[in-house]
Amino acid sequence: MYKMKTKKFILAESQMPTAWYNVAADMPNKPQPYLDPRTRRPVTKDDLSMLLAEELAAQELSTERYIEIPEEVQAVYRIWRPAPLVRAEALERALDTPARIYFKNESVSPVGSHKPNSAVPQAYYNARQGIRRLTTETGAGQWGSALAFAGRHFGLDVEVYMVRVSYDQKPYRRLMMQTWGASCYASPTDRTASGRAALAAEPDCRGSLGLAISEAVEAALQDPAGTRYCLGSVLNHVLLHQTVIGEEAIRQMEMADDEPDVVIGCIGGGSNFGGIAFPFLRRNLCEGKRTRLVAVEPASCPKLTRGRFAYDYGDVAGYTPLVPMYTLGHEFQPAAIHAGGLRYHGAGALISRLLRDGLIEAQAVPQSETMRAGLLFAQCEGIIPAPESTHAIAAAIREAQAARIEGRPRTILFNLSGTGVIDLYAYEQYLAGRLTDSEPTDAEIARTVEGLGLLH
Ligand SMILES: *Cc1c(COP(=O)(O)O)cnc(C)c1O
Repeated sequence: MYKMKTKKFILAESQMPTAWYNVAADMPNKPQPYLDPRTRRPVTKDDLSMLLAEELAAQELSTERYIEIPEEVQAVYRIWRPAPLVRAEALERALDTPARIYFKNESVSPVGSHKPNSAVPQAYYNARQGIRRLTTETGAGQWGSALAFAGRHFGLDVEVYMVRVSYDQKPYRRLMMQTWGASCYASPTDRTASGRAALAAEPDCRGSLGLAISEAVEAALQDPAGTRYCLGSVLNHVLLHQTVIGEEAIRQMEMADDEPDVVIGCIGGGSNFGGIAFPFLRRNLCEGKRTRLVAVEPASCPKLTRGRFAYDYGDVAGYTPLVPMYTLGHEFQPAAIHAGGLRYHGAGALISRLLRDGLIEAQAVPQSETMRAGLLFAQCEGIIPAPESTHAIAAAIREAQAARIEGRPRTILFNLSGTGVIDLYAYEQYLAGRLTDSEPTDAEIARTVEGLGLLH
């Protein structure tokens, strides 16, 4: 008799995690400190507090193992959390694999991605400190829309500097931000000195993420009493907030009476990968488990597989502290792939240290393979994945194929970081056969990492 298998593993709201996990507590080697670019001294909590809410600055440097999720944050999480864990059975059948494939569905948030897991606590801690306005930058609009959504819940004004090209070409996330009441400006603007300088040099300037960061930072520093800046990835506190994903997934894998051999996530700055992987890493470090943890990057932006472990700026313009990270150099210009959220030149300090110490793995996948994987996933499981998330799917499929070839079953868990419904343009290009693959040459990478001192 056909035994009906459970498709989705759903936690009750009462089973939602009440603490985030801070991997820094258990790392054998802690990341090197951020450095002030002028003095080369380690950045302190007071330095960070000029830009970020104090509690977030404290979390950035914390080595406490668990940090409680405030009740007010849990209340907003409950709009969409706990997120389902889903068995991708139709995908398994299509691949004719003995592997069991599960995914954590983070696309169910109102924003369509994992990003509000951090936007909500960031807005909360700012509001609690009496801050009235948040500034941030956004490329394709994923982070900007998450912060707009979060800011609304705590009565904050949110000001988003959106790269001009995306502002013009991708109106839908801008409209999401405006629907949630945020102000969204096409960067460069005439609201800041850096924006005005860019416009003076080039009146038709189409903007860049680096420039948008400069504008958002400058706008925050203009009003030290009432405004702070927020960042959507890379920083330790952002990865901390995202661990709610992995904490739920551990409970849900228990419900499924299964245990992942490998946990996979795509990587831009590292927040959705760290979010799902770090709680499993805790079990490796503290309970002797041996789950493989795989971060998947685009072959066109291969910071983990081909970058240098060095101190580098977090932004193109060189305004941020120096971060110890795997980087392609802050001036590296990746190809214009559709997975815009994975085009960042470096990986956060925690991810980079863990890769350096062999505690996580990295893989690079070309764009056409990722979109092929995304299409197969959509046709089997129904959900159209974000172009970023298709990187994790492609790596999961590689694992499932290896399981078939080796005749060895295994359990695969990947993070579905977001929906692709607002990024259908990528699918249009793929279906029309217009997607290309590109990889930087060694010479190109050598040029942008030149001068970055090696770390150990
Ligand atoms: C922003 C984004 C990413 C990449 O950022 P990380 O911080 O590395 O997670 C991946 N997937 C989606 C859907 C995103 O919006």
